[in-house]
Amino acid sequence: MAYVKHWAQEEKLNETEKQKLEMDGLEILKLIPRYAKEGFASIPKEHWSYFKWAGLYLQKPKEDGYFMMRVNVPSGVLRHEQVIALANIARDYGRGIFDITTRQAVQFHWLQIEDIPDIYDRLERVGLSSVGACGDITRTIMGNPLAGIDPHELLDTQSIVQDVYQFFQSNEDFSNLPRKYKMSISSNIHNAAHAEINCVAFTPAVKEIDGKETVGFHLKVGGGLSSRPYLAQQLDVFVLPERVKEVAIAVTTLFRDYGYRAKRTRARLKFLVADWGVDTFKEKLVELTGPLPSRGEDKLENWNAGYFYGVHPQKQPGLSYVGLNVPVGRLQAEEVLELARISKEYGNGEIRTCNSQNLIIPNVPDEKVETMLQETLFDRIRVEPPHFIGYSVSCTGIEYCNLALVETKERMRVIAEYLDEEVSVDVPVRLHMVGCPNSCGQRQIADIGLQGIKMKSREQKGLVDAFEIYVGGTLQDGGHFNEKLKGKIEAGYLAPVLREFLLHFKEAKQPQENFHHF
Ligand code: SF4
Repeated sequence: MAYVKHWAQEEKLNETEKQKLEMDGLEILKLIPRYAKEGFASIPKEHWSYFKWAGLYLQKPKEDGYFMMRVNVPSGVLRHEQVIALANIARDYGRGIFDITTRQAVQFHWLQIEDIPDIYDRLERVGLSSVGACGDITRTIMGNPLAGIDPHELLDTQSIVQDVYQFFQSNEDFSNLPRKYKMSISSNIHNAAHAEINCVAFTPAVKEIDGKETVGFHLKVGGGLSSRPYLAQQLDVFVLPERVKEVAIAVTTLFRDYGYRAKRTRARLKFLVADWGVDTFKEKLVELTGPLPSRGEDKLENWNAGYFYGVHPQKQPGLSYVGLNVPVGRLQAEEVLELARISKEYGNGEIRTCNSQNLIIPNVPDEKVETMLQETLFDRIRVEPPHFIGYSVSCTGIEYCNLALVETKERMRVIAEYLDEEVSVDVPVRLHMVGCPNSCGQRQIADIGLQGIKMKSREQKGLVDAFEIYVGGTLQDGGHFNEKLKGKIEAGYLAPVLREFLLHFKEAKQPQENFHHF
């Protein structure tokens, strides 16, 4: 039985909350085998939204009965057999589409209810799961995609991430949170896990304890995007590695028990943190954890936006990792199988996913790197991509998403490739396209954010696809969300408008000056 506290009686609950009291989200897992046998038509409409807890969303249009599935990839670490299993699922059930998300997860499309039990079996056999990848629950935990191989990390966070992930996975005490809940645990000094846009983020820090410099974490809470974005704020605490799980449980308990359930639009942790302030939040936290040391020395040096292109030495002498571009995060199953072959032949078979929707092949002996890079797959999945397609991010968009107002993924790819032909700049410009204000493509932290809307056209009848343009987003130095430019652009004019804008940037900027400082 899922944990239900005082709020069930005390608060005015929104409709989703009332529904969650009738049946806990995780209960859908018990019903899926029956629905799979009896077919999509046997699923009552009132059960559709519960599928999120199983990592499944109905694609657009819902009535057609096709699902999108998101698979958790904690910290982005995928072993060889996991890569093969994911590629085979995409090939056998998902029309070959393999998407990497902005939280290091993997998404499939076109799945049918009859397929789900076999897909679950395949995932389970290799230690993967889609449970909790969507819904009002702890989502996949973002982390350092270089964990364990990063020459600059303060400590290898893989076992901490796995421990916390396993604790929250399918945990009925935490399966009814007020809203989605996003966590990052990383010791990457370049903030590769985007700490400030997570509900709760553990970031690298050191502190002198008992006369010894001790490695641990600082803690940020209350970040998140969507239509009212907030940057996570740091609490005055230092967390030892062995206390990360305990602190994560305490923050989640506060969210579960005090997070707002009256209005869905105010239900994220960020609203509770904004109302309480960090001092009160810390007081409530230590009531649950007991005393925590005050903050130490912050070790976040800068922000790399989750990009790792090129060949780089690992902390293990003689081994390199290779950062690769996946244009707008979309691969075909055959490409993933080829990546798996290459990573096995030249590395140890592992692949890492990045929140920039890209990939890393780790553990390649230095002497094998040059030969590996001759593989024809790397003509498209490039090691040194051009500055626009290499730094373009896109959400799913209207192709599959029920909330989307416009098409995004293919549009972003075509525009980025056009800009690479038309404009040559000496620094990357990060372009993020989203199909609605929910901002799965993290529009707010882009150099240039493109947010889809509908507008009346002078030339055509009815509403047409259009975009608002936002500029100057970054998570450097604590973060700054991008700001909206006046007006909106019909989708058909977006590419030439961006071309003019970027040509002006190129002419006016100083050498090596990047977009954020422009
Ligand atoms: Fe869908 Fe909007 Fe998220 Fe894009 S940002 S995937 S359109 S909900």
